[in-house]
Amino acid sequence: MDTIVSFAKRRGFIFPSSEIYGGISSTYDYGPLGVEFKNNVKRAWWKAMVQERNDVVGLDAAILMHPTTWEASGHVEGFTDPLVDCKVCKKRWRADHLLEAKGMKPDFRPGALDKNIVCPDCGGELSAVRNFNLMFKTFVGAVEENTNQIYLRPETAQGIYVNFLNVQQSMRRKLPFGIAQIGKAFRNEITPGHFIFRTREFEQMEQQYFVRPEDTDKYFESWKEMRMQWYLNLGIPKSRLRFREHEKHELAHYAKKAVDIEYDYPEMGFSELAGIHNRSDWDLSRHQKFSGQDLQYFDQEKNEHFIPWIIETSDGADRAVLAFLLDAYEEVKTRSGVDDAKHKKEIVLRLHKDLAPIKIAILPLSKKESLQKVSQDIQKSLWKKWMTQYDETGSIGKRYRRQDEIGTPYCVTVDFNSLEDKKVTVRDRDTMEQERVDIIDIQNYFEDKLK
Ligand code: ATP
Repeated sequence: MDTIVSFAKRRGFIFPSSEIYGGISSTYDYGPLGVEFKNNVKRAWWKAMVQERNDVVGLDAAILMHPTTWEASGHVEGFTDPLVDCKVCKKRWRADHLLEAKGMKPDFRPGALDKNIVCPDCGGELSAVRNFNLMFKTFVGAVEENTNQIYLRPETAQGIYVNFLNVQQSMRRKLPFGIAQIGKAFRNEITPGHFIFRTREFEQMEQQYFVRPEDTDKYFESWKEMRMQWYLNLGIPKSRLRFREHEKHELAHYAKKAVDIEYDYPEMGFSELAGIHNRSDWDLSRHQKFSGQDLQYFDQEKNEHFIPWIIETSDGADRAVLAFLLDAYEEVKTRSGVDDAKHKKEIVLRLHKDLAPIKIAILPLSKKESLQKVSQDIQKSLWKKWMTQYDETGSIGKRYRRQDEIGTPYCVTVDFNSLEDKKVTVRDRDTMEQERVDIIDIQNYFEDKLK
């Protein structure tokens, strides 16, 4: 993980936030390549979940919501983690994580923790367990009073539930149908860490599928398989992914059933990447009760009013970025064939083409004006469609290595022959094979390669 953290910073993917002030714990900024990469992850999700389906539509709800939302959803009362303090070094820990680390089931009530469990840092005695609410509070308007207190949303899902009827009626939807949304969520995590795996501000890609109650099991199973397939399609090998069903004591207050998709992260082993949840009719029933609005669906064919059940798919954009990054990162010995100290370790980021931040690099062999002109014209014809990068500094080998490191699938080299034969050399990141391509055909060539 340390290798990836320093690589991500060095190559402009992810920086520690507010670094010039010493940083702020477990908060990160996406750099120029990171933002492209993360946008590609989100685009791939949106394409699979919304664009290529007739039964799912999108939404972009506000982060700030009416505070009653969070009473109805159960978050004010129940969105807590069990917290213990070390009486000696004052460090805070999640009691369930401490129990899990000892191979014990984390099913306990607030109160005393097992006597044998001590502070992992200093061995000090731990306080009794108390519940700590993870929601960030803030105030609306100029007066910081309790009546003006609201929350930063801890999940994007509730923005979808409160808009259930707006979407269903405006888009004339019949069950089953889904609403998808990508957006920021905030949780005051007790123990954030492992780079962007657990942060206090993060992005979720969530989809809520509204179904008839008797159809929940069927759709739960199909969504579970589809979400797993999405990660496989984007290049993560099966051996690094698995399903894990939640045991009863782990289920969130709203869940009837929950299965995680876990990725085998370094340092942590298999840990949650995404979740598929059967949320029953809990959320809509609660919003109906707290708002006093009728949120029932009317089935015209059956002449029946009822609250739909919900199958949720919830993926973390940052955890997905981390999994794709870890998986794609490869250190190889002298790919270029040169066996000196400089080439001992070469890095290739074997990202799926859809996710690569830069798709094509344009590299004129020299800084001669004639080559620059042809190269820039080629770049302009390509950047309408794809993210490109122009690089004319350093030896061509060095420039190839730079692009390999950031996962660019193709490099286009413009050489002196290009001026004569109107062809360029295209190099493939993975095979390192080179091919001469007619400049006039270059758009079609990449259309085919990057489709
Ligand atoms: P965990 O058990 O790891 O705390 P969770 O079960 O609370 O996660 P959910 O509430 O199911 O997570 O959230 C859905 C998804 O949002 C998770 O699968 C994960 O990808 C992402 N996620 C949740 N919390 C965080 C966080 N603090 N930082 C980054 N991503 C997160």
